[in-house]
Amino acid sequence: MIIHNIELAASVLNEEGIIGLPTETVYGLAGNIFSEKAIKAIYQIKQRPLFNPLIVHIKSFEDLSTIAEEVPPIAIKLAKAFWPGPLTLLLKKKPLVADLVTSGKATVAVRIPDHPIALALLNRIDFPLAAPSANPFGMISPTKAKHVNEYFKDLMILDGGECINGIESTIIGFQGNEVIVYRLGSITLDEIEPIAGKVSLINKNDSAPEAPGMLSKHYAPRTPLVVAETIQELIQQFKNKKIGLLLFSNTFEGLPENAVQIILSPNKNLSEAASKLYDALHQLDKLNLDIIIAEKLPEEGLGMVMNDKLRRASVET
Ligand code: AMP
Ligand code: MG
Repeated sequence: MIIHNIELAASVLNEEGIIGLPTETVYGLAGNIFSEKAIKAIYQIKQRPLFNPLIVHIKSFEDLSTIAEEVPPIAIKLAKAFWPGPLTLLLKKKPLVADLVTSGKATVAVRIPDHPIALALLNRIDFPLAAPSANPFGMISPTKAKHVNEYFKDLMILDGGECINGIESTIIGFQGNEVIVYRLGSITLDEIEPIAGKVSLINKNDSAPEAPGMLSKHYAPRTPLVVAETIQELIQQFKNKKIGLLLFSNTFEGLPENAVQIILSPNKNLSEAASKLYDALHQLDKLNLDIIIAEKLPEEGLGMVMNDKLRRASVET
């Protein structure tokens, strides 16, 4: 059920229920971090393995001290620069944060969402919200209330419109003096490095992922997807198949007859493309296509982030 009533959403959370939460990145599946019942429900409905910890959403910088301790100065600097916003920090957790939330890790992932409705809701309750993306584990993240509704028919979803960023948060952790990016997301390395200095990027590790966004297969549509440097060759290869094309800025002339194409940003704007990426994948995935051919985006800033997400959604050809 999609609702617009923040009070109603707050009352469900107060009663240890879970809701679909709009944020500027993607929709979340949110519950009280201090309720074992709510946290268990999040893992269960998402079918998320218990070793994948959740991101905690707080309403203000002051609230950070309720869940994290020994926050390094560089983390404070990054928080001041990017919060509210799509930057998740991995910080030493306080004992009152349950192991279930952090999957037994000593760190807790935390951010302040930059979304008026999420913030209004957080201001009406007196606990932080644990919220992973509101998709079944391994599937495309939702950027519209309707995407969440299609995944979870019985869930109450607070509608906050289309997610403005449309890509998950960037996850950063700290080891000694080292600043480590564990997951590429809405905030790009170009934005982080002027503040944090040179960072290390640990963005791929299948065996023991620090963060599930690091699993090499992730965010996948049901339809097989391939990423192409040059579309032409692949169209040739799949010419007898039903093709969906996901393109950055230009339409492709001379497509096979029953092919469809979605253009992410006619103006070549990477932020616009990022905000539309998952919705485009949701749309293409509904068309019973044989294959989705995604054009590789310019390997810079958000283009690099989107290429990373597309690679993880893709199959070998
Ligand atoms: P999601 O919101 O679905 O993208 O999931 C939250 C992301 O945050 C996942 O990639 C988690 O693994 C990551 N995360 C949450 N807590 C931690 C933590 N303590 N250490 C490492 N990664 C974390
Ligand atoms: Mg996710």
